[in-house]
Formats: sequence, structure tokens, C-alpha cells
Amino acid sequence: MTRRPLVAGNWKMNGLQASIGELKRIVEGAQSLGDVDLIVCPPATLIAGFAAAVRGTRVCVGGQDCSTQPAGAYTGDISAEMLRDAGATAVIVGHSERRHYHGETDAIVRAKAIAAQRAGLLAIVCIGETRAERDRGQARRVVSGQLDRSLPDTSKDIVVAYEPVWAIGTGLTPTPDDVSAMHGLIRERLSARFAEAGHAVRILYGGSVKPANAKALLALENVDGALVGGASLYAGEFLAIAGVYR
Ligand code: PEP
Repeated sequence: MTRRPLVAGNWKMNGLQASIGELKRIVEGAQSLGDVDLIVCPPATLIAGFAAAVRGTRVCVGGQDCSTQPAGAYTGDISAEMLRDAGATAVIVGHSERRHYHGETDAIVRAKAIAAQRAGLLAIVCIGETRAERDRGQARRVVSGQLDRSLPDTSKDIVVAYEPVWAIGTGLTPTPDDVSAMHGLIRERLSARFAEAGHAVRILYGGSVKPANAKALLALENVDGALVGGASLYAGEFLAIAGVYR
């Protein structure tokens, strides 16, 4: 089963209108990349402008979160349908910062993934253990449970991102053996749950992916790309990571 690699950039709460220059550098550099899908997920305020700027190029734009609801009295929230309307084709759901700072449970993450499917967006569903959970030997159990409870009933338009919380923004990464073992476990569970369709689901690794470690991490079996935070803010670094697939 060949899966087309995906490198997605999560800009988090960074970026102003002037950041369109960085996006344009990504679009330009992407022309010489190999077979790899590219998604830039800027803050919501930039989605419409970025989507207009990438139209007709190989770069796509995604959101960083969405409501479970399509519309209504939910002040401050943005629906998957609105993201789609603004030109997004994907959305990150269940990022550990949403789970941690906004109390998002697996059930909420699952409802958001279903909302993304409903709107025709690719849902990048994030899971990953904390340092304390890993130190207690609970990483496999925690990740399995999050996966089982956070995914919708069908694997249509679903990407899983394994992001150990302790590796996000810290410069730390698990060993290649640990990444392989966790991605292998996620693949097994996806296959058990969705049969053949489970083989087609892409599993991204996220957590301090940089140009210097991308080649080793992205070469591992069942690592179908990366979800990149800090390094995605710089066109040169983001392109160097995606350039692993040249
Ligand atoms: C992230 O927040 O999804 C992430 C992977 O961040 P970083 O690459 O900065 O660790």
C-alpha cells in the first residue's frame, strides 16, 4: 500500500497579514518538491487570504480547530463549513494544546473530526502521550485509547498525527525505534478498526521535526509525513523538511 506523504505546518497563534510573504516563498519552493502533499494551517484570520494566494498551486490551506456544530449561537467558534467556505481543505483537531488549554476530551475531538468530514475537510486528528505517561510506561495504552475514542466511524478523509506532548516545541524527539513502535501500533489498530481502509490512512509524526532530523524520522515505516509546528513558520525550514520526499 503506497500512501502519498503529507507535510502539514501548524502556525499556531503566529502570523499577521504581512506573513503572506512567507506563504508565497513556500508556494514557490514547493514547485521543485517531489510527490508530497503540503498544507499550511495559519490562524483563522489568515485562512481566506492564504487560500486565495495558493489557488492553483500545490499548497493547500487548513484550519487549526473547528466547532462540532455547523452554525449557531457559539460565540467565538468557527465551524468546519466556515473553514471550507474560506477556502480551507483541511483542519487539525485534538491538538494537545487544544486538549490541554481548552479541556478538549476525546469525545469532543471525535465530534470535531466528524464535523470536518461533514464539511468535506481532511481531518488531522492528533494524539500523543505526556512525559509523565511515558515515564510510567503508559504511552501505548494512552495513545491506543485516544485513537480509539477520537476517531469517527469511517476513515474517510482522516489523517492521524502522533505527537508526543513532551516532544512538541521542546527540541526533544523519541528515538526512531520508539516512533516506529508507536506508528506500528497505530497502524495495527487502524487496520483492525477499518480493515483495508485502515491501511490507507496516513499517520504523521509531530514533535520538534526540523530539517536536521526529518530525513531519519520520515524514512521510518508507517511514518507518512509530518505535522510541523515551529519550523513551519519559516519557508526555508518547512521546504527542507518536505524536501525529504524530493
Ligand atoms: C505541533 O505543535 O504540532 C508541533 C509539532 O510543534 P513543534 O514542531 O514546534 O514541536
